[in-house]
Amino acid sequence: MVKAVVGANWGDEGKGKITDMLAEKADIVIRFQGGANAGHTIVNPYGKFALHTLPSGVFHSHITNIIGNGVALDVKKVMEELKSLEGKGVPACKLLISDRAQMVMSYHVQFDQWEEERLGKASFGSTKSGIAPFYSDKYAKIGFQVSELFDEEELKKKISRVLAQKNALVVHLYGKDPLKEEDIFEELMGYREALKPYIADVSSYLYRALEEGKEVLLEGQLGTLKDPDHGIYPFVTSSSTLAAYGAIGAGLPPYEIKEIVTVVKAYSSAVGAGAFVSELFGAEADELRTRGGDGGEFGATTGRPRRVGWLDLVASRYGCRLQGATEVAFTVLDVLGYLPEIPVCVGYEIDGEVKEDFPVTTDLNKAKPVLKTLPGWQQEIRGIKNYADLPENCRKYIEFAEDFIGVPIRMVGVGPGREDIIYR
Ligand code: GDP
Repeated sequence: MVKAVVGANWGDEGKGKITDMLAEKADIVIRFQGGANAGHTIVNPYGKFALHTLPSGVFHSHITNIIGNGVALDVKKVMEELKSLEGKGVPACKLLISDRAQMVMSYHVQFDQWEEERLGKASFGSTKSGIAPFYSDKYAKIGFQVSELFDEEELKKKISRVLAQKNALVVHLYGKDPLKEEDIFEELMGYREALKPYIADVSSYLYRALEEGKEVLLEGQLGTLKDPDHGIYPFVTSSSTLAAYGAIGAGLPPYEIKEIVTVVKAYSSAVGAGAFVSELFGAEADELRTRGGDGGEFGATTGRPRRVGWLDLVASRYGCRLQGATEVAFTVLDVLGYLPEIPVCVGYEIDGEVKEDFPVTTDLNKAKPVLKTLPGWQQEIRGIKNYADLPENCRKYIEFAEDFIGVPIRMVGVGPGREDIIYR
């Protein structure tokens, strides 16, 4: 059986913790898209970890962790993460890396930086991890797949072809020194050495695992609103963040994905540029940002302060629909305990009309939030284990969100720790 854990919003919904918890019952945990540009924060008995590329199952020795073909594979970062786990005493994990995954090259990271510099103020707020140049090259068919590392003669020919094109940009658009063929070859040979112990034919492995009745968990990065097709284009990421893409990015039949746990945060946060209708500014924003998440809303990978706002139910319902949510995990609710009243966004006013369906970007940029104010509970809820023991106004907040979204909320996050979760 395949289950997916994905985000409904802009990312940072707290998928890491939910995945870490669900991973315990899984046999296989798979990353199927994205790269080292975002990160999950996981707090467990070994310490606090920011995982960027490794699947969340790496803390459990019974789990096979897979980096699927859909991932932007940053070999150096994967190796660094493996080392950091070892350094904190986590037992060695089982890891497979798809022979169809493509590698993030050092020039992808450089191109990302140069392009952001070139765009200046008009930049997209990229994390400069090379993700957009990587996926552009993959679809322009000039990327390097892991399987290509083993035929050195062919590889050299390909490097020469690729660099003819890359260097035109390096020299004439960015005014930098051209890339050298031998450096790129060396880089790729280094990746080959590092990857060797992990390379696998993942789709065959999964086919057999599913025949044997294994439990598989697909782990999404970011959320629906960052999807290149269904998100706030162009302020999106470069690979699909939807559960449906799990089938492609891992190599599974789509009908195998039976459960789609979609994570919605009890308020909103976003990194990077783009419309954010329920965004808060000034002192109200600072307070929520400082109290938010686990020790404040700052990016797990970049440390950048996140933009924060009220729960956006228009965006969350859309986010859950596009994911195909079968249940919702509603996280970080404990953070809202300081508020006497809590506004939530229930509509977008666009050109004088109130809409409840999430619009395309051109309309989204004109949208003003229609807020409904719910009573707060002004109480610490960390440590509560049973739904019935939550304050009444807190339950009402959850049930209001559930009614609007139209998908059952089965888990409620009341703290950053693994045990800080209420099942309904
Ligand atoms: P992800 O990318 O969706 O995994 O999100 P992150 O892990 O980057 O961000 C979520 C942040 O919220 C992390 O710092 C988590 O430790 C924290 N977190 C997750 N669930 C809860 C919760 O229920 N309450 C609180 N206070 N923090 C939470």
